[in-house]
Amino acid sequence: MYYFDNASTTKVLKQAADASLKCMIETYGNPSSLHKMGVEAEDILNSSRKLIANVFNCKYEEIIFTSCATESTNIAILGAAYSKKRTGNRIITTTIEHAATAQCINHLENNGFEIIRIHPTNGKYYAKDIIDAIDDKTILISVMHVNNENGLILPIEEIAKEAKRKNSNILIHVDAVQSFCKIPINTNKIPIDLASISGHKINAPKGIGALYMRKGTKIQRHSFGGPQENNLRPGTEALPSIAAFGIATKINFENMNESIEHYKILKNHLLERIENNPEILLNSSDNCVPYIINISIKGIRSEIMLHFLEEKGFCVSSGSACSKSKKSGVLQSVGYSKQREDCAIRISFSRENTINQIDLLLDAIEAGQKSLIKAY
Ligand code: PLP
Repeated sequence: MYYFDNASTTKVLKQAADASLKCMIETYGNPSSLHKMGVEAEDILNSSRKLIANVFNCKYEEIIFTSCATESTNIAILGAAYSKKRTGNRIITTTIEHAATAQCINHLENNGFEIIRIHPTNGKYYAKDIIDAIDDKTILISVMHVNNENGLILPIEEIAKEAKRKNSNILIHVDAVQSFCKIPINTNKIPIDLASISGHKINAPKGIGALYMRKGTKIQRHSFGGPQENNLRPGTEALPSIAAFGIATKINFENMNESIEHYKILKNHLLERIENNPEILLNSSDNCVPYIINISIKGIRSEIMLHFLEEKGFCVSSGSACSKSKKSGVLQSVGYSKQREDCAIRISFSRENTINQIDLLLDAIEAGQKSLIKAY
């Protein structure tokens, strides 16, 4: 199979898998144990923490390991909202958030919080639209950095700086799942308080995530148990996955610039190929990352094309992987028609993809355009 679904999940790097295996059969101590094997395990735990902290340019104590970005986001959003409840109840977010954020926000709305969901303007997010919604009762802003369906980049630096200037009590959470190790987030320059990331999007195994939490940030805990992970995520740490996450972070971060150049070459080639095909519409604008490209193939429903491509040996996604065949509405939210969203395909790259693979994928899409029956 040619795999073009890296925004859904990625292949685990051999070095990350090796680090994981070593923690299972050699350094398998509990990081909380006082003996030598416990200390060895704690060293691995903290060296992974440091490798992740390096990407955020933060202190290693500011990284909390979780089981996935969804858990990080639950800890961050619910924790921030309930800890700030006495000072206000307004929360600002966007209309294009991943379910991890959107469902936390819906839960808070059902529990008395006032939610302001900002729509894009002409397919783009402007910091001003978010800043204008801030009042003195605003306690939290939660925005994503890069959208998982069309690759749209949101101006988190401007949002965070302007928001803190307007009301310094506001906590800012960023869903950095699709930008981590791809676009730097320097927390020395960008005044965010919380950020969610996920291992399986950057070649670590599934089931490991982390939360960046700025030192001094107070959020209410909602899990109870041992004192691990700053009391916010109790339970013995998943050391094999944490070790892999650390190594995958190191390798991806070291190769970040090179990878981006590779993705730009792939994206340009793909755009050149679809330029001459008026039946393929591009849903990812200039403000989008080069590694997530969303297109609509006129008249052919996503699922039909997806399965056609699957038979020819290609994995792509229809919209967001988390929503399966259910459409998320993100493309409609950025201004496209329902029909266009119904026919959307997401192509997302890894370092293993090549120009030749893109040619083969486009040949297969064109074959699908000729043979599949149009729904519209
Ligand atoms: N946020 C975004 C933007 C995502 O793309 C995803 C996964 O698809 C998540 C959050 C959830 O990540 P996880 O699978 O680690 O819970």
